[in-house]
Amino acid sequence: MKAIHNLLAALALGIAALPAAAETCDSNEAFTLVLHGGFLDYEEEVGPPHRALFRKLLKSGREQLASGGSALDIVVDSIAALEDSGILDAGKGSIVNTAGFTETDASLMDGRSGRSGAVAAMQRLKNPIKASRLVMDKTEHVLFAGTNGEQTLAGLGAELVKDPASYFQKYTPQPTDEPTKPKHGTVGAAALDRCGNLAAGTSTGGWRDKLPGRVGDSPIIGAGTYADNRRCAVSGTGVGEEYIRHSVAYAIGALMEYQGLSLAAAVDRVIDETLKPGDGGVIAMDPQGRIAMRYNTPSMLRGAADSSGRFEVKIWD
Ligand code: ASP
Repeated sequence: MKAIHNLLAALALGIAALPAAAETCDSNEAFTLVLHGGFLDYEEEVGPPHRALFRKLLKSGREQLASGGSALDIVVDSIAALEDSGILDAGKGSIVNTAGFTETDASLMDGRSGRSGAVAAMQRLKNPIKASRLVMDKTEHVLFAGTNGEQTLAGLGAELVKDPASYFQKYTPQPTDEPTKPKHGTVGAAALDRCGNLAAGTSTGGWRDKLPGRVGDSPIIGAGTYADNRRCAVSGTGVGEEYIRHSVAYAIGALMEYQGLSLAAAVDRVIDETLKPGDGGVIAMDPQGRIAMRYNTPSMLRGAADSSGRFEVKIWD
């Protein structure tokens, strides 16, 4: 029955139901993976479990990229593992909104084709980043939102949790001056594979004080996520409203292309001049695999691994 539903949904959208063939990348030597776990206000927000998780994911991502894995697959796998960890504000660990329930946002972009997929204000998706991949691979659309979007994606194979209240609610709303529990957080990844393809993705539960139905930058292509093989791959974390207003992720690519800035200079410009102090941070990568990890907040959980032997996880400077 489910298979028939999937097939009908695929036919209705006029696209092939068959998954794309796996591709191995080995034309270049260079590859890079960079991850973030959201910007930080307080040192206590993250600690040894986060560092261990990042080290594990960077290690396995590095191995997959070295053996020809695609940037897109590794971005999805890394973010899905961060969502499942329950220790960051994405997927299982997502923060609840002011009404006490979880709504998740995510997006994914393929730098080779420009194809992208995103989900917003989702209440039952187990892995918003995998659902974003379904949007990209199995529909002609870019963004699905809310209950109807969730049902359509379930018909295309997205996994829903049975009891969202017990699955998601790790954090309960706190007074805003309570520093011990995060008010926000987001996870993201960008990768360059050995075919020279870039990909980026972002996933979040948003802000603890957000109103029901509020959607941030993470599912907005060009705001929280952007990838283009000719320019860069970017994932952001911060005050989503500012990232949307300034098309932050796209602006980095535009500064590179239209003003000829290097990745580092483009990221500096956006973090230091476009955004205000305290707005957030980004991880970004250029087509050569050079990276930037910048923020104008107290800190950002971040890590990187590449083919030259770089391997680092940073919580605080
Ligand atoms: N950017 C996310 C949002 O506004 C929050 C975050 O990055 O912490 O939903």
